[in-house]
Amino acid sequence: MTNTNIPKDYQQSMGATIIIFLILGLIVTAILISPLLTKQRRNQIKRRAFPPFWQEIIANNLPIYHRLTTDERRRLQGHIQVFLVEKQFIGCQGLQVTAEMKLTIAAFACLLLLNEREEYFPKLRSILIYPSTYVVNETVATGDYFLAEKRVAKLGESWSRDQLILSWAQVQEDTQHWNDGHNVVLHEFAHQLDQEDGKAEGVPILPQKSDYAIWAQVMTAEYQRLCHDVENGFHAVIDSYGATHPAEFFAVATETFFEKPLELLQQHPALYELLQRYYQVNPRQWVE
Ligand SMILES: [Zn+2]
Repeated sequence: MTNTNIPKDYQQSMGATIIIFLILGLIVTAILISPLLTKQRRNQIKRRAFPPFWQEIIANNLPIYHRLTTDERRRLQGHIQVFLVEKQFIGCQGLQVTAEMKLTIAAFACLLLLNEREEYFPKLRSILIYPSTYVVNETVATGDYFLAEKRVAKLGESWSRDQLILSWAQVQEDTQHWNDGHNVVLHEFAHQLDQEDGKAEGVPILPQKSDYAIWAQVMTAEYQRLCHDVENGFHAVIDSYGATHPAEFFAVATETFFEKPLELLQQHPALYELLQRYYQVNPRQWVE
């Protein structure tokens, strides 16, 4: 039977409506399936064999590598493999990017992913590597109403857009001084975690809504304590740079948590516990 009694205009509008619904259906399906496909693709990457010479490089440059548990090491390797596939490394000022550079940076950065959030610094696309300290033009305030252009030397930078900058000389220095509480890769990638929600205020995305209140309570108290210590010239285990802004405090506290866990636990137990819960690792167990 043909629908000769239905007006042609009506048939056309019905046809258009069906096409719109089909397109919307496809878009919704793609949105729902996309994370599953990403997860599947990442799991395939993680299952690839981890080359022995990669292990050698990481063991040389990440001093705690052999102190990680077998399970932590296996998960770290998986994250490193995904990180290397998804992030682009760009050498600056003529620097040739080597496997050692990529693996060292990936290994430090992926220590921050052992909490299995299934996110790989989603806003970050490329890592720019300079041979050593690099100089940039920055606009700085010179008084209440005045701004000036200034040349500033930098060791690293995390931009809220899609790039992060590192000095390779500084990364190498950090591999040789693991326990000094300074690590430019941990610092800049902690900023990436902080900036994931679009704001740089020292609060990364937390698993539960209820976590934010305790985070604010502990972080505010610890930040104020550091500001007080710095103002009064007291020695603190957390570097004084952390007292410049809550976002810097989170980045510097992360460096201290991984590099000086015993001191942090003794002097700032609440902060240690908060970071342990967030990063889902216990670095004091990695100390000999
Ligand atoms: Zn910083």
